[in-house]
Amino acid sequence: MKIAVVGCGIAGSCVSILLNRQGHEVHLLEQAPALRPIGAGVMLQPLGQCVLERMGLLGQVIANAEPIYELHAIQRSGRTMIKMPFAAAGVGMHAYGVHRGDIFEVLLKDVRECQIPIELNVTVTQTTVSNNQVAIECSDGRRIDGFDRVIFANGSKCGLRSKSGFRKREKEYEYAAIWCSLESTQVRNQLLQIVEGSTRLMGILPMGNGRASLFWGLACRDRERCMQQPIAKWKEELRRFYPAASETIESIQDWSCATYGTYRRASVTPVYDSHHVFLGDAAHANSPHLGQGLNFAMLDAYRFAKALQDLGDWQKAGQRFVKEQRDNSRYYRFVTALLTPFFQSDGRWRGIVRDCTLPLLHRTPIIRGQMALTMTGLKSGFLGGPLKWDE
Ligand SMILES: Cc1cc2nc3c(=O)[nH]c(=O)nc-3n(C[C@H](O)[C@H](O)[C@H](O)COP(=O)(O)OP(=O)(O)OC[C@H]3O[C@@H](n4cnc5c(N)ncnc54)[C@H](O)[C@@H]3O)c2cc1C
Repeated sequence: MKIAVVGCGIAGSCVSILLNRQGHEVHLLEQAPALRPIGAGVMLQPLGQCVLERMGLLGQVIANAEPIYELHAIQRSGRTMIKMPFAAAGVGMHAYGVHRGDIFEVLLKDVRECQIPIELNVTVTQTTVSNNQVAIECSDGRRIDGFDRVIFANGSKCGLRSKSGFRKREKEYEYAAIWCSLESTQVRNQLLQIVEGSTRLMGILPMGNGRASLFWGLACRDRERCMQQPIAKWKEELRRFYPAASETIESIQDWSCATYGTYRRASVTPVYDSHHVFLGDAAHANSPHLGQGLNFAMLDAYRFAKALQDLGDWQKAGQRFVKEQRDNSRYYRFVTALLTPFFQSDGRWRGIVRDCTLPLLHRTPIIRGQMALTMTGLKSGFLGGPLKWDE
């Protein structure tokens, strides 16, 4: 088939590689004028590692990454709230701290080696189906005809959810974060989070090769106030909040190392029809508090491509894809939506409830196991155990 993939991000590049390997004629359409390894630190979870391994790309991605063995969340006073080893979900399990750009570069290199055409500066605004063919309309008025099928892999801000006859649910969060990529080795082999109430949150994720990502939770209404002040003032604010991170904070040079990422919760129904399918954040975006978005984007790509290969029919592949992803996608949507306000929202009571309950929950053996499984991305649903995603 001749397939258009809208969005050359994580899901888009993965699915393009996999479908190209199956012999489909894939065309990538990307709104950005150039492809750059943007982003900050992300957690490559066991789930994402499995997908990259199946694609033969894991070695390249983790060559410089930092193994992450635990999540350590503390209060500003230094009191531990959660210290959760990945191994609590299974022997030898761990994540990697990696720059999103490092993963993207490896995928992009493979896309280029497969000689998949990428058209840049193309913002897709709508699709229309006639005579079993899909035409793509772009924001500059262009129309690109002649595709058999279209894959929407255009991320959480996907503006196409309601345009092609699908129903959408979208919510922008009032809190988000400033993300910095820095040179620092102060924190090793763990994701460190420091919280105060539900309004203040700092995190440090090592990314390997002497690099780290620092994030600072911030209400959207405070973004301008914060990012327009001199960098020295912001560094002072961070140091006052958590003096023990001074070494990492010191390596912030100027505002150019920082980006502000907003959070969005979104879903679309149905996830596929006779000519389209939504993958990754375009299908199900969540806040990044459980650190799964990138991993689920790759899993979606793998699952859909595999279903298409096994069944050789778009509709049947869509049916199997939905059946496979429904339960764990619902579970993570629910848990992320439930937890997010306890880490980032206005008001004091949520922070107090979290500080009282989380330490108790994570010391209760049966709940601890489920929490660890959730953290790895491998929880298959509300009642399910580990995800069997590639039998
Ligand atoms: C602050 C922050 C921190 C995060 N931390 C983590 C983490 O620790 N772990 C984790 O797993 N995930 C994390 N994520 C989420 C992760 O980055 C995304 O979930 C993941 O990249 C989703 O991949 P995707 O392919 O669906 O979308 P993206 O990678 O966002 O790609 C979408 C692509 O589509 C393009 N596009 C958009 N609209 C159009 C259009 N109309 N036409 C053509 N092209 C279009 C975009 O330019 C982009 O290139 C984080 C996200 C944020 C915002």
